[in-house]
Amino acid sequence: MNETGRSGGETARRWLRRAPALIFAAGLALVAATVAEARWAALAPLAAGALAHFLLRGADGTLPRRAASGRARQTPLWPDASVKSVVEAVREPAAVVDRSLALRFANAAAMRAFGPFVLGDPIAMRFRSPDLLAALERAVESDEPDQEELAERLPADRSWGVDILPLGLAGEERPPFFLLLFRDHTQARRLERMRTDFVANASHELRTPLASLSGFIETLKGPARDDAAAHARFLDIMQDQARRMSRLIDDLLSLSRIETRRRLRPNEAADIADVLRSVAGQLGPQAADSGLAVRLVGLDGEGVLVNGDRDELIQVFANLFENACKYGSDGGRVEIGLRRDGEGVEAYVRDFGKGIRAEHVPRLTERFYRVEEGATGKPGTGLGLSIVRHVLTRHRTRLSIVSEPGKGATFAVRFVRFLDAIEKT
Ligand code: ADP
Repeated sequence: MNETGRSGGETARRWLRRAPALIFAAGLALVAATVAEARWAALAPLAAGALAHFLLRGADGTLPRRAASGRARQTPLWPDASVKSVVEAVREPAAVVDRSLALRFANAAAMRAFGPFVLGDPIAMRFRSPDLLAALERAVESDEPDQEELAERLPADRSWGVDILPLGLAGEERPPFFLLLFRDHTQARRLERMRTDFVANASHELRTPLASLSGFIETLKGPARDDAAAHARFLDIMQDQARRMSRLIDDLLSLSRIETRRRLRPNEAADIADVLRSVAGQLGPQAADSGLAVRLVGLDGEGVLVNGDRDELIQVFANLFENACKYGSDGGRVEIGLRRDGEGVEAYVRDFGKGIRAEHVPRLTERFYRVEEGATGKPGTGLGLSIVRHVLTRHRTRLSIVSEPGKGATFAVRFVRFLDAIEKT
């Protein structure tokens, strides 16, 4: 922003606008002074009047108080220092425009949020939103406060709530300025969008098995009423679909339970080696059924206490272990174990299956994200790793995923030991 430069430029333009009057007045005075004829000399008071009018105007284009007395006072063009210091003190981005919607002041927060402004420019040069401009025009017309939403795509996706407030000044019949106060709604809008996406996705995921169930019920009641072989086949499919729905509902409930506790850090201790042994014990038979050998690594030494909720950690590693069996079954074996070092411990589940292509890795923990869908895909909800991420966030740690396509994948979580964790809190 360059107010001095701007007002200097405007002053120069004002002088230029008055140049013809000046030249005319000076010309008349010159003629009157140099030509002795009385009829020319009569023009001298007129010339002096024009010159005086010109000279009496201040640099801001208004008549000085004394000269203006008795006439309508001109509206000030720039807000005064006290208005500016109040606007500057506001934490949110704030700007002041005049009645012609030219920008007259912007605080430091506004410049941080929107980049530099050129004072004196129409506000429409910086904010092109027709809704915001219409709201500003409404406010100027009615002299009443107004508000509008502003969505900016560049340089980043941001949403603002803009309050437009008239700034009245003593002695002014109508407010000469309007304050634009910007409130950052970006986070709130993002959450809103996530919630609506989530509801849309969840309904879609539930609708698919439900539609299939309804279809089979229709068939069983109609064309296949007396077909015993079809009954058995269809009932199996219906059972699968019902299971899919119940898995989805369980995952959704789990997710919502964990989300509500997301900010509460667990303050109990859990033995992470014992957690991994329990998971291997519970799910070993399932792995064996899929023809997988399970190897436990680093789990027979003494226990390792970490800051955590045992049941939730079991849920995390059971999820990772099930995924390893489900998606890594080609590799023939699964590893679950601990790597210890001085500061902490890393718990991991590793498989030797087909692995995950790099472009999918950063998206795996998104809700409903699945690499394979349809007939080739394995049954799943796409919520498992999202639940894992939420539980780990509550535990102040993260999931790391390393995979080489064709060679398998390792899902690992680093924990600090319980005593260290206590000392650091
Ligand atoms: P779900 O298993 O219910 O689909 P998840 O959130 O647990 O949901 O996993 C998301 C996706 O990540 C899976 O659909 C799968 O494509 C991929 N994935 C997860 N674990 C592995 C793994 N060990 N190997 C290969 N792909 C995996």
